[in-house]
Formats: sequence, structure tokens, C-alpha cells
Amino acid sequence: MSPVPLPTGATIGIIGGGQLGRMLAMAAARLGYRTIVLDPEPACPAAQLANETLVAAYDDVAALARLVGHCDIVTYEFENVPVEPLRLAVQAVPLHPSADALEIAQDRVVEKAFLNGIGVATAEWRAIDSAAELDHALIQLGGEAILKTRRLGYDGKGQATIRKDAPLADVFESLGGVPSILEKRVPFAYECSVIGARGTDGTIAVFDPAENVHGLGILRCSTVPGKITDDVAREAKDIASRILERLQYVGVIGVEFFVDADGGLLVNEIAPRVHNSGHWTEAACVISQFEQHIRAVAGLPLGAPARHSDCVMENLIGDEVKRAASLLTEPAVLVHLYGKAEARAGRKMGHFTRLTGPANC
Ligand code: ADP
Ligand code: MG
Repeated sequence: MSPVPLPTGATIGIIGGGQLGRMLAMAAARLGYRTIVLDPEPACPAAQLANETLVAAYDDVAALARLVGHCDIVTYEFENVPVEPLRLAVQAVPLHPSADALEIAQDRVVEKAFLNGIGVATAEWRAIDSAAELDHALIQLGGEAILKTRRLGYDGKGQATIRKDAPLADVFESLGGVPSILEKRVPFAYECSVIGARGTDGTIAVFDPAENVHGLGILRCSTVPGKITDDVAREAKDIASRILERLQYVGVIGVEFFVDADGGLLVNEIAPRVHNSGHWTEAACVISQFEQHIRAVAGLPLGAPARHSDCVMENLIGDEVKRAASLLTEPAVLVHLYGKAEARAGRKMGHFTRLTGPANC
């Protein structure tokens, strides 16, 4: 049975008002929907575009209940929304993606156990709850490794690289002594990611993978197709589809991969939301990842994920936002700024996508 689509004029609640929430609000507006954003920061990027902003903490059950009371469906723009308050508050309206998907993606140990459990390969890993366990796990994994907090990491934060023969003392404590995961360092040839979507009727549409380059843990640029071979693209899309199917997922998901020199793939992590490495879709596809997410959660038909052009998307981080003025003198570069007042170091201020030629599709 086909689900009933959300009618025009209905209201979508978006938890999180950063740039992803902002771009979701823009896409929702274009499809005739209203949006209410919940964010602790009144001047958050999405507040400039949403119909209303509810200023509250993400674990404020009363505020979440108010949001639910005014919305027809609820979605979120980041994976660190506390699950239990959300489960409590969101019972009267659909939450997409589900609280179960969110719960898996926000804990690196649960995430990797889920992936391995459905036959998806990851870096070798061990759960770490103490400095002694870290010592032991390092011997088991051998070689270089990366210690990451299980929760709340982003843009490379909450991570420490452990090099061979370097002193180990205090590495566990340096991340706060919190439950962590030790991952074997993957000597990847390159990184790529896939943005996929699943609709309420079970339809799956997956965008082409992008080759990603990170600097200091932050995404610098995404190139499509970059180094990605057809075989790697097919395998990455298959894995993303399997994850969507197994989670009975509704909405857009980002799946990050490590690719070795022989084209072998390991999943690094999944993000139950629109993803920075999918921003290129707004310039090189008819339907962007943002519209695709809104279509999916609203029960509308998904758009075709084919790209019409090859492209490169670059983030504008901190002071780099000053490049926008000269980028705008190029007639065919899509520049997207997030309306953030202060260009602090490491802060994502905007991005741009330059088309680099016709795609072979
Ligand atoms: P975040 O949530 O901050 O994106 P990630 O786990 O994706 O955290 O790590 C950020 C980046 O650090 C990755 O994109 C990759 O470049 C590098 N990295 C993370 N884990 C590993 C690993 N096991 N082996 C090699 N590089 C890694
Ligand atoms: Mg990542």
C-alpha cells in the first residue's frame, strides 16, 4: 500500500538548526512545507529560513513535546540528539529516520557491531572502557590505531592517533576517560562516501559516490567521480542499499568508506542524516540530497539520483569564506553560504560546487 504523502502546507519539525537544518528548511519550503527548527542557539543558521524556531536544549522533553505538538512529522539534522528524550516526546507523529537508526549511528561500538552483523566490513576494532583495556587491545590489533570516543565525536574531534612506539600514557584520559573504541588504522588509498535515500514505500535511490579529502579531520573537498572506479561505485552503492534496507530506514543516510589500493571497501561510519559530502548534489543533480530527504520523510516519490555533471565541492572553513567574493565572479560556480556571523577557525561557513564537465550517464 502506498503511504499517504504529507500534504502541502504541513509542518516538518527539524531538530538541529545548523547549516544542514538550514538547507533542509530551504528544500522543504520549495515543496510547500512549513518548518519549525529546534536549536539551543536563537541565531542558528536555520533560524533565518525556518518558519519558526524553538530555542531549547535537545534533551528538553517539554520543548520536544511542544515541537511535536506543532508538527506533522519530525526529522533531525545531526546524530547527537539524545535518544531517550526524543523517544518519549515523539510518539504522536512519525520520526524519520527512526530512533533506532539514530541510536545505532550515535555510538561507534553499536554502529560497528551492527555493520559487521549484516556482513559489512569495517576496520578491526575493540570497545575500550579503561586504560588497561587500551593496552591489551593495542597488542591484539597490532600496528597503529586510532582511539575515538564512542559518542559525540565529529569533524575529527574526540579522536587520538596512537603511533607505534609513542608513549601511551594518558591517551585514554586525554579523551576524557569515557567509553571509547580502538580502531586499527586503515592504510587507505582514498576515502569516499555514498548518500542514499529510502522512501516510506521502501524505494531506494542512491547518489553516485564522492571521493573525499579530509584535513585535520574536517572534510575539505568532495570530487565526483574522482578516483572512484565503476566497480567501487557499484559496491559502495550496494552496501549503502543494504544498510538502508536492514534498518527499514526512511530519509537520507551518509555512508563513509575507506578504499584500499585494490578497490576493497571498509565502512568507516554512517550518518543518519544529510551529509557534508553530499552537498555537490545541489549543483550536479536535478534533486539534491536535501530535497531527497524531505521527499523521503514526507512520503513523496524519490527523485532520480543520476548526476548530470562531474563536479568538485569544496568547504569554506573559517577565513576561507572570504574566497566567496572571487568565486562569485566565476559564472558557473554554485556558492552556498550559511549566514554565520563569525568566521571562527575550523568553522564551516559555506561551500561551493564547481561543475567540471558532463557526466557519462
Ligand atoms: P568524524 O565523526 O569526526 O567524521 P571519522 O571516524 O569519520 O570521524 O574520522 C574522521 C577522519 O579521520 C576520517 O574521515 C579519516 O580520514 C580519519 N580516520 C578515522 N578513522 C580512521 C581509521 N580507522 N584509519 C584511518 N583513518 C581514519
Ligand atoms: Mg566521518
